[in-house]
Amino acid sequence: MRLRDAGLFVRARLSRTLTGALNARSAIALPVPLPLEAVVARPDPSPLDLARLLEGRSNVEREALLGRYLAARGVRFETERFATFEGAGVNYVAEVGGGPRTLVLIAHHDAVPGSPGANDNAAAVGILLRLLARMAAAPPPRLTLRFLFTAAEELGYLGARAYVRSPAARQVAAALSLELCGIGDQLALWDAPRETELSRSFAHAVVGLGYRRDETFHVVGRVPVFGSDHRAFLEVGIPAHGLTVLPGAEAEALRRFIFKPWRSLFQRRPRPFDTYHTARDRSETLEPAAFDRVGAALEALIREF
Ligand SMILES: [Zn+2]
Repeated sequence: MRLRDAGLFVRARLSRTLTGALNARSAIALPVPLPLEAVVARPDPSPLDLARLLEGRSNVEREALLGRYLAARGVRFETERFATFEGAGVNYVAEVGGGPRTLVLIAHHDAVPGSPGANDNAAAVGILLRLLARMAAAPPPRLTLRFLFTAAEELGYLGARAYVRSPAARQVAAALSLELCGIGDQLALWDAPRETELSRSFAHAVVGLGYRRDETFHVVGRVPVFGSDHRAFLEVGIPAHGLTVLPGAEAEALRRFIFKPWRSLFQRRPRPFDTYHTARDRSETLEPAAFDRVGAALEALIREF
């Protein structure tokens, strides 16, 4: 094992143990998720419905239900199981479109123990499931879109790190990981210290939707402390960024919090970090407008890339 992997493993275990212990002390009951049958019965379930399918369930259930949902919808997908000494899980992969270049869109389906995991990250799973249905109906002609639903992101991007070791990952042009996409009115592309084809296409796409750079959308450099699945792609040399939605009213507080998170020990955490990894990360806090925002931005990016 490389030193870097060991560091990720120890950090993930520590944070998991700490948040698990804190959440176990919480008096808030877990939310009641939507049953699979109720969601499948809807012809065009919203990202919120899909998020409610997963929230409040154990990681084992989340993983199993996502596979059952894809199967029930008739989606063609691969089930990729991985197991290392760090942990095990299942990644799901579905592809649409056709073209020499492949853009990978990622959402992890696991959550930290004791958190319902609505904004982190059932919201992103819901957004990608909806997008997958829309893109399957009207595939992009010159681009292959690969939807990757990973396990064990909260264990140091374990699922994504397993995925990038597969031969299929070698043909990837770029990857984008969705994190915390259910609350807010501004877009942030992060871990983007230098311009890439992906960041350039993203900026062009959202400007076309009426966003203004540094006002309503932000391109942020390397983020300390926080991370996501795209970092597994970066490690093997594939251009990759994170995508998050943020409340504009909190922009300044968020900048301080994200770049100096230890301050949150003494100060109020700005939204959406007030619920992040806590028992309060529930679907009632999610905003359907945020889902629409991300969905529209992704569709514009797909046309642009
Ligand atoms: Zn997450």
